[in-house]
Amino acid sequence: MNKDDKILIIGAGLCGSLLALRLAQRGYKIELFESRPDLRKVDISAGRSINLALSDRGLKGLELCGVVEKAKSICIPMLGRQMHDVKGNTFDSKYSGREGEYINSISRGDLNAILLDEVDSHENVNIHFNKKCIDVDLDETRIQFYDYKTKKEFSVIGDVIFGADGAGSILRKHYISERKFLFSYSQNYLTHGYKELEIPADENGKNQLSKGHLHIWPRGDFMLIALPNMDGSFTVTLFLSYDEGEYSFANLTSEEKITEFFEKEFPDALALIPNIKEEFLNNPTGFLGTVKCSPWSYQNKTLLIGDASHAIVPFYGQGMNASFEDVYVFDGILNMGLNTWQEVFKAFEKERKKDTDAIADLAVDNFHEMKDHVANPLFKEKRKIEMDLEEHFPEEYFSKYAMVTFKEDIPYSEAMKKGRAQDKALLNLIADDEINTHLRMSKDELKQILKTIKEETNE
Ligand code: FAD
Repeated sequence: MNKDDKILIIGAGLCGSLLALRLAQRGYKIELFESRPDLRKVDISAGRSINLALSDRGLKGLELCGVVEKAKSICIPMLGRQMHDVKGNTFDSKYSGREGEYINSISRGDLNAILLDEVDSHENVNIHFNKKCIDVDLDETRIQFYDYKTKKEFSVIGDVIFGADGAGSILRKHYISERKFLFSYSQNYLTHGYKELEIPADENGKNQLSKGHLHIWPRGDFMLIALPNMDGSFTVTLFLSYDEGEYSFANLTSEEKITEFFEKEFPDALALIPNIKEEFLNNPTGFLGTVKCSPWSYQNKTLLIGDASHAIVPFYGQGMNASFEDVYVFDGILNMGLNTWQEVFKAFEKERKKDTDAIADLAVDNFHEMKDHVANPLFKEKRKIEMDLEEHFPEEYFSKYAMVTFKEDIPYSEAMKKGRAQDKALLNLIADDEINTHLRMSKDELKQILKTIKEETNE
């Protein structure tokens, strides 16, 4: 392992770009390959999570690489959720009772472009667009590419290969097909897919929904969400079953049926989406799934990172954040002064896998919370108490959501364990009528609740 090693990275998405930048900053020489064209020159965003929620773990990774201020300049803070019922009534629920804790809506394309600009300006990295990895020889650390421009194949040999090529990783597929080692792998699809739509800005360029919220239309079996964009528009995402229930992607195939569905379930949103029929029929339906696998590495030659090693469903808004945190954790492992890439790769997975497994499970939990529970009275009561606890005891109480989203110094696995125990204790107190949430609680009463939660969670 030395600075002259030739490092090949497959994928110049969010994780691959940040990883390339960090390794270049550490003095390594990188060849970065991306199958798509340069997104700074060609618009390739249509229909694929146009904006994302960026929070503290992601910011930590960006800060490490010196790009956090640039990223923040294109962030729109979202202080909480705004829920919309079928009658068009709304209610707000903050993400935290503490000041200064919020998530950010950010354009995937613009963020990726910031990272590519930084990578481009670094002398240690060469970026190659339109080069699709089609084959990998693990033992030779050789990659076969197809060049979309020349329509020819070519191969490149390196010392180390990083697969930052996303949920459908070709490197991961080679781990499975080559059977060189015992590779455990699971892929679980959700029964729901997603489709993106748009609420444009009004004629004055102003946003038509509150800009400081992540909007949710929870309907039990399905939901709509909307995140703000810098130009006043909102990207709206429908999460709906593929083929089950009265309405599904399988049967919403005519203009009449689409309109009927939105008029019945989301009339207030429908009024703001002028091109609903065209967008619904033309925009792709995406699938959602969880990938867990192990080991992430092969000898001292290859490593999976980001979604390639741990794709998760998007309901905690953590996939990109976890991928940026991967780069942060990997950098910490490099600081340990280990001697070989193999030692580094093993140490990285040992440190990281329990946490990416945890956020994968939490993200599935949050799918049910968002589409259903957020409108449930018990859930609303629980969130209200949590907000009060965080407001009055900001150093002592952190909800599960806050630990995952804002406490980047707590690993996901700990946040999951502690957060679930707290949730259980709090829901028990509410169910046993030991808390009357309709009255505003005094600080002493809240202190008593905090004490009970701590006792129940063995703190
Ligand atoms: P990707 O972003 O998928 O990048 C992989 C790159 O590799 C791509 O550029 C691709 O073109 C390239 N590539 C793939 N195959 C090849 C090949 N064979 N050869 C060369 N290049 C290749 N995360 C959040 O943190 N917050 C959110 O709010 C959020 N919302 C989401 C909403 C939706 C609907 C979805 C689907 C995901 C969301 N995510 C969110 C998750 C987030 O998008 C991913 O976790 C993140 O993009 C992972 O980054 P990555 O670089 O590992 O993979």
